[in-house]
Amino acid sequence: MRDFGPVALDFDTQSAIAEADRCLGCLKRPCVEACPLHSDIPSALSALAEGDVEQAGAIFRATNALPDICGYVCPHERLCEGACVLGRHGYPLAIGALERYATRHSPAPRLAPRRRSGKHILIAGAGPAGLAAASDLLAAGHQVTLIDAAPQPGGWLSSAIPTFKLPREVLNVHVDRLLRAGLRLKTGTCLGADLSLEEARQQADAVLICTGARVEAESLPGAGLAGVWQGARLLSAVLRADQDTVPQLGTRVIVLGGGGTAIDCARTAARLQAQSGQPVDVTLVYRRRAHEMPAPPRDRQAAEAEGVRFRFQAAPLALRPDPNGALQSIEFAETSPGAADESGRARPVPVPGSTFLLEADSAIVAFGWRPDPAVRRLDPALELDAAGYIRADADTGATSLPGVYAAGDAVRGPALVSQAVCDGMRAAAAISAYLRARS
Ligand code: SF4
Repeated sequence: MRDFGPVALDFDTQSAIAEADRCLGCLKRPCVEACPLHSDIPSALSALAEGDVEQAGAIFRATNALPDICGYVCPHERLCEGACVLGRHGYPLAIGALERYATRHSPAPRLAPRRRSGKHILIAGAGPAGLAAASDLLAAGHQVTLIDAAPQPGGWLSSAIPTFKLPREVLNVHVDRLLRAGLRLKTGTCLGADLSLEEARQQADAVLICTGARVEAESLPGAGLAGVWQGARLLSAVLRADQDTVPQLGTRVIVLGGGGTAIDCARTAARLQAQSGQPVDVTLVYRRRAHEMPAPPRDRQAAEAEGVRFRFQAAPLALRPDPNGALQSIEFAETSPGAADESGRARPVPVPGSTFLLEADSAIVAFGWRPDPAVRRLDPALELDAAGYIRADADTGATSLPGVYAAGDAVRGPALVSQAVCDGMRAAAAISAYLRARS
């Protein structure tokens, strides 16, 4: 557990075939229904059970532009594996691992469109929605320019998903494939800052906005103290770090939050402590009950196995300084479950007189996300919803501006990678139809 190498267990050929052979080929196909991309899982597993890995990979690719990435980062136990009938009386099929196996052992064919359309599409945002759309638009024969504010493509996948969850070569293979197909990639270029939406619309026949929604939510009193990290910034700092710049978290680390990012932060902190020869002392504190955590249960179990402790039903109130202005402790109140909120979960209600302090060298705050306020400044005619996300047609991604589409988290808010991929692919199909209709 000391390193940041991948932790996902991969099948060998024999065990992949044996596992795929357990599939019952259910007529009602609950696994397909539960998949945001409606991948034809039974057909892919049938091909795999017969040893036809290429066909299995092709079936997964037919509905998913990034199937190997989804194989690593999707919470399968909540989706296809959660719906698999074999789970009712035993173990569900390991669909995620089989998807990884099939797609990693059957390289995607070259993107080689038969005809060039002569149309140019500019995509802003090189995360999963932007990469998926770029793949389909290049395959359709369009010229595609993909810009991203970050120095490397991948969006959240490259800036914050730890390498122990997603090996970077899996992402790099996709980017290389797009570049070989003629993608013009411009990193360090931000829509709204380096290129206005109006300029983008003048330069391209259509624009697709996939700029995401990963701006960290409001924090706590004391968030500016030394020793306090925002979760995404810590993950990004670790990914960029060399030996001299590895974040030093100290001996007692407390992570605040209950989502996937909070768990990733806790597991990252545990690795940093183990690497520096310290005992792991990482506690994740969540204000609700264990079963109400948004984080995938499998990630929580992995964190526990790696030494992360969990404390539930405690809401942070403030981060307290020592005399030198560094974090010393965190003040909490115990909570009890109240009436259901808009998420359907019991609202955590502070218990009067229950405040307590936990001492910590570092606090990692991972409370969630809010829409990127920069989207508001792109164009006053670009309609947003009440929360600040771009208003776009659910099937096409069409926005209030002609020829401008939007997909992924910028529209629906932070969601699964598979949902962003699905949105990007739908928008790509709609853009091709829009350009065909205009030519
Ligand atoms: Fe196979 Fe499970 Fe899907 Fe049934 S639900 S078709 S057993 S993967």
